[in-house]
Amino acid sequence: EWKRTPVTSTFTKHLNTQPLPDEQRERILAAPGFGQYFTDHMVQIQWTGDVEAGTGQWGDPQLVPYGPLQLDPAAAVLHYGQEVFEGLKAYRHDDGSVWTFRPEKNAARLNRSAQRLAMPALPETVFMESLRELVGQDKDWVPTGDGQSLYLRPFMIANETFLGVRPSREVLYSVIASPAGNYFGEAKAVDIWLSRNWARAGRGGTGNAKCGGNYAASLIAQMEGDAHNCQQVIFTDPDRDHAIEELGGMNVFFVFDDGTLLTPELTGTILEGVTRDSIIQLARDRGMNVEERAFTLDEWREGVASGRLTEVFACGTAAVISPVGRLISDDETIGPDNAQPGEVTMSLRQELLEIQTGRGEDRHGWLT
Ligand code: PMP
Repeated sequence: EWKRTPVTSTFTKHLNTQPLPDEQRERILAAPGFGQYFTDHMVQIQWTGDVEAGTGQWGDPQLVPYGPLQLDPAAAVLHYGQEVFEGLKAYRHDDGSVWTFRPEKNAARLNRSAQRLAMPALPETVFMESLRELVGQDKDWVPTGDGQSLYLRPFMIANETFLGVRPSREVLYSVIASPAGNYFGEAKAVDIWLSRNWARAGRGGTGNAKCGGNYAASLIAQMEGDAHNCQQVIFTDPDRDHAIEELGGMNVFFVFDDGTLLTPELTGTILEGVTRDSIIQLARDRGMNVEERAFTLDEWREGVASGRLTEVFACGTAAVISPVGRLISDDETIGPDNAQPGEVTMSLRQELLEIQTGRGEDRHGWLT
């Protein structure tokens, strides 16, 4: 029930005295793209303490006008990348109400990431309230168009002015929001580039944390992919027979002709996607056999050759589910030319979208 009841606010509000005029906002919402425009407000909560000593305190939660941060050039985040973030969407339903999808999962993941980066945990209730405050205040920024949403970006940065290498004793938590269009347009199969030269994570590294450095490390591979006309890059683990890991910003699933759905197991080197978890649940609800295990490049190649592997798709908050066409590398291409989006892929996509947009039954209580 708490999911449907607004919380009592403890936020101090400093409202923007110059919000963007309605007609300009409407123009943006007609074609928002992704991550280019931001709403009138943002959340800020400052933490002070000592993670090593296990002490610290979050300060007064604030809703303030969106705008540049004041950071000392010696702020730790600028030098050592002590930073974590999240990404989730708010959808407007047909009755005008606005809903987020499994935000408590993002709250928990933010804290797992923060722990890995030696940053403080944010109480999950404060995370939830921070989303409500921002979305509630800037609700006119939630677009109504098909496939459109308000993308929410919570993040934490180490903003202590100190160049020593140790956990920052000051951390800023903030949330910003950005209207988003349909990420890949309509669902057509995308080609993905196999990153042979670059890894994004290794055992004991930060692969399962959502921290900025992982994405910085993936850009060079993404550039290689772009140069080969691939929209996304996929990473493998060279230490485990090139077991498939994940894409630069999405998890990956394989569909077999015997009704099996397979996705790489969580080894600590891939992100535990909220979409991934939801798809596993929806597939099990349908009676599909879901396997989380290592799946190698060789198995992918053999699966396509034998015809047993019938569909491949990627998933994540941004694009929800997108069909994968071919896997391309310097020396081979796996998968058919002109692949059409698969049946299982598209029906899972539709089911998930219907839940998120309020057109399907929310039988797992995923909406807040
Ligand atoms: N893997 C990576 C590396 C990602 O950045 C994302 C996007 N957060 C995902 C997977 C998908 O996660 P989610 O379904 O929670 O968006």
